[in-house]
Amino acid sequence: METPQVKTHGKAREARLELYRKKGKIHARSVSGRFNTLRWAMVWITQIVFYGACWLEWSGRQAVLFDIAHEKFYLFGLVLWPQDALLLAIALILAATGLFLVTALAGRLFCGFACPQTVYTSIFMWIEEKVEGDHLDRLRLDQAPPDPRKLLLRTVKHGLWLAVAAWTAISFVGYFTPIRALLAAIPGGQLGPWEIFWLLFYGTFTYVQAGFAREAVCQHMCPYSRFQGVMFDSTTRTVSYDARRGEPRKGADGSRSGGDCIDCGICVQVCPTGIDIRDGLQYQCINCGLCADACDTVMTRVAKPIGLIRFASERELAGTPVKQGLRGRPRLAAYAGLLSAFVALGVWTVGQRSLLLVDVLRDRGSLSRESADGLIENAYTLKIMNLAEAPRDFRVRVSGLPGIVVVGPASFASEPGSIRAVQLTVAAPPQSGAAGVRPIAFEIDALQDAATRVVEKSTFVLP
Ligand code: SF4
Ligand code: SF4
Repeated sequence: METPQVKTHGKAREARLELYRKKGKIHARSVSGRFNTLRWAMVWITQIVFYGACWLEWSGRQAVLFDIAHEKFYLFGLVLWPQDALLLAIALILAATGLFLVTALAGRLFCGFACPQTVYTSIFMWIEEKVEGDHLDRLRLDQAPPDPRKLLLRTVKHGLWLAVAAWTAISFVGYFTPIRALLAAIPGGQLGPWEIFWLLFYGTFTYVQAGFAREAVCQHMCPYSRFQGVMFDSTTRTVSYDARRGEPRKGADGSRSGGDCIDCGICVQVCPTGIDIRDGLQYQCINCGLCADACDTVMTRVAKPIGLIRFASERELAGTPVKQGLRGRPRLAAYAGLLSAFVALGVWTVGQRSLLLVDVLRDRGSLSRESADGLIENAYTLKIMNLAEAPRDFRVRVSGLPGIVVVGPASFASEPGSIRAVQLTVAAPPQSGAAGVRPIAFEIDALQDAATRVVEKSTFVLP
């Protein structure tokens, strides 16, 4: 007479699953396993980098700093200027192409393991579990009427969430305003309007997104979940349920009917987005692998091989042989090719990058004039940009016409990371060329560094 009991348990379990799937807040059951370990490893790595990098020093300044006021981006020994926008563009394209490649290979790996939304939700859920208890305790607490214990637990949880959100906001703004100065300014309220805005905005954003919105961000706000399917092909390995092995699952009447799935529902209970992976690939799935961890534990318990839920491709699940490498995978080959091309372009751009930039502007107010000693003179303004982090002296020479010279001082000192505008007069004999606009070139050398040399084309007007 086991059946009625099983039936009752089955119904209770169904009711509980409905609660997890559709009603109110999702209280995911905690799970351990290799994907959960990897997920937490990513939380640690990303947060050590994010919270730590803003505290690093390099040559007496913050190592990583977006100095918007002075239009510079410091990255350890590298200082990028607005003129280096191409490098930043290449870095963004590289990141996007890398994301597409990883998605074509293994689905939404970024979403499940490295996306800030996932990472902060994991941290906030960990705090919630430590304060309020496991998934069933939290469910009970949600349904319990207000009392002093509930108030206390909620206050502690929200206090800790706010503390994490505040520190996250300070760290974020600390990449734009030196973090030591920022921290010193907070107690006295000596912050600028933008700092106040971003501290409040980013702190609130973290608190709301990770504490309340959670999976709704992935499902309804993030555009990536909607178009990720475009990058998939039949060999993309995503977290999948092996229906050929699992079905037919245990019947509703409790009878076993051949498949390995015992319909325990734990894979649904651990899912942070509240879906059932057994329903197939769904846009809500962030590929975190927690259902695979849960099912592996169940399979081990019932002495079946693990991997009923695993990273597998459509072909693999259909029992079709999967080709290795890039053969027969044009999408993957295209992303890999693009990634290689942009890596090469990035390396080349860094190699070609000069720490000296010069703009030459000819004074159009007076085209040319004759000096007391009979030479023809043209006036110019040179904007010398010393992109190095050291003071340097630059020597200016001019060529392109016989006898053409710079009149007066031709060497100029320049501060580290500065732009210096200098007025120059250039003179040439009247007979040095035919009348009209003649091409000439300015050559600017760094005296301390023979390799730094810039040649800028310009024109000289002969009457
Ligand atoms: S955890 Fe595994 S056995 Fe349990 S319902 Fe999910 S797929 Fe079936
Ligand atoms: S279905 Fe599995 S992999 Fe997808 S979000 Fe839920 S737990 Fe993560």
